[in-house]
Amino acid sequence: MAARIIRDEEVSLDPLKGRTVAVIGYGSQGRAQALNLRDSGVNVILGLRPGGRSWERARREGFDVYPIPEAVERADVVMVLIPDMEQPRVWREQIEPRLGEGMTVDFAHGFTVHYGLIKPPEYVDVVMVAPKGPGQLVREEYERGRGVPALVAVYQDYTGRAWDMVLALAKGIGATRAGVIKTTFREETETDLIGEQTVLVGGLMELITKGFETLVELGYQPEVAYFEVLNEAKLIMDLIWRYGITGMLERVSVTARYGGLTVGPRVIDEHVRENMRRAAERVRSGEFAREWLREYESGMRNLERLMEERRRHLIEEVGARLRPIIFGEAGGGGGGGEGS
Ligand code: NAD
Ligand code: MG
Repeated sequence: MAARIIRDEEVSLDPLKGRTVAVIGYGSQGRAQALNLRDSGVNVILGLRPGGRSWERARREGFDVYPIPEAVERADVVMVLIPDMEQPRVWREQIEPRLGEGMTVDFAHGFTVHYGLIKPPEYVDVVMVAPKGPGQLVREEYERGRGVPALVAVYQDYTGRAWDMVLALAKGIGATRAGVIKTTFREETETDLIGEQTVLVGGLMELITKGFETLVELGYQPEVAYFEVLNEAKLIMDLIWRYGITGMLERVSVTARYGGLTVGPRVIDEHVRENMRRAAERVRSGEFAREWLREYESGMRNLERLMEERRRHLIEEVGARLRPIIFGEAGGGGGGGEGS
């Protein structure tokens, strides 16, 4: 029943031999994946906007750079690594018209294909290598001889060779060094959205903010609250990351262990689980995707307003004063804040 972890030794780069890979976009994932593939011996070209900021950088970093349609024309494998909400239009206007029979199209996230914003023609293979980490880490880990784990999937297997190709791509970017798991576009998309909304981005942010507000409302110093619920959250997370949850519990004080085990489930209680289920349902039904698409296309004013509210929150003010001290960037006075 346990998912099988595919390791580096099991995968061959052969499907990429003599092939040209066009990486579209030179942002977080595009740059990392292009550099890693090239260092793995793969022939990589880039498809970018002429005159865009990435164009010169990619040239400086030694790549042959073409306008997107021309890069697609020259390629056997096209990696679509531009922001999800930009993909549908670029796909329609610049990628799809130049795709040839039997080519491979790769995504790093299933969003646009899963929700039908992109409908690939039936004569190409459609695959996904979704690294489970930010682009910068995908590059740094590769350079250290390691990798960031990834999920791989095949949405459409026209040639019958899509699985070998997607695994070769995963190996080329270093992901198999850390292990890759087979999934589907649906599972990757839904778990990614549910995870970031309920735990990683939305959940953590709210947990920390509400904890901070609670302490400050009780009259404690905001700086003390910041150290307690924001700064130390990172240190606890590192323990969970490295040793697991019981490993973390074994490494905090016995008082923290007892208090955490008994009070935690009362704070993050069954109501929270219910809320998580509701959020998951909105992702699974496509309601969240439709809402986000509308927001994106109407200029993201809501998003900007929500960001502005957060920027004005006390926790940001306190953080802006404390971080230069915590990270030793205070640069000799003027940083405000008293230290302890
Ligand atoms: P990004 O925002 O870092 O990079 C975008 C790149 O695309 C830039 O080079 C930008 O100039 C270019 N671009 C933007 N709009 C364009 C347009 N209209 N036409 C042509 N080029 C355009 O994007 P990213 O975060 O690397 O995301 C790329 C894909 O990777 C997305 O599918 C995302 O979900 C996925 N992904 C990202 C991460 C991550 O760490 N950022 C992790 C896993 C998966
Ligand atoms: Mg995500």
